[in-house]
Amino acid sequence: MSDDPFVKLAASSEVSGKAPSRLKSRIFSVLTRRQEESGPLLGLRETSRAGSQLCVFEQLVRIAPAGETLHSFNYCRICHARALAERFKAAPIWWPGCPYVMFQGGK
Ligand SMILES: [Zn+2]
Repeated sequence: MSDDPFVKLAASSEVSGKAPSRLKSRIFSVLTRRQEESGPLLGLRETSRAGSQLCVFEQLVRIAPAGETLHSFNYCRICHARALAERFKAAPIWWPGCPYVMFQGGK
């Protein structure tokens, strides 16, 4: 396991099972920011092929004639679901595929 304290915190059962959705969202944001700092993220096509669901914005970019830079951009960084999920415990996010939606089942 990584020595990174955020990775350890996110992997702990305390956080994954009982943590408030806002905390989970903030931890996810920090982890993805750190991942971006270490290199380009997996492209949208590769992410989709690996079985991950894309959000509506990522789907649009995936089918658009966009360059690889746009395909590996983290859309959740500017997605308003992130801003809502980091601030509200039952954030009104209704579209599937956004990782912040999966944290909404928390407290
Ligand atoms: Zn998103």
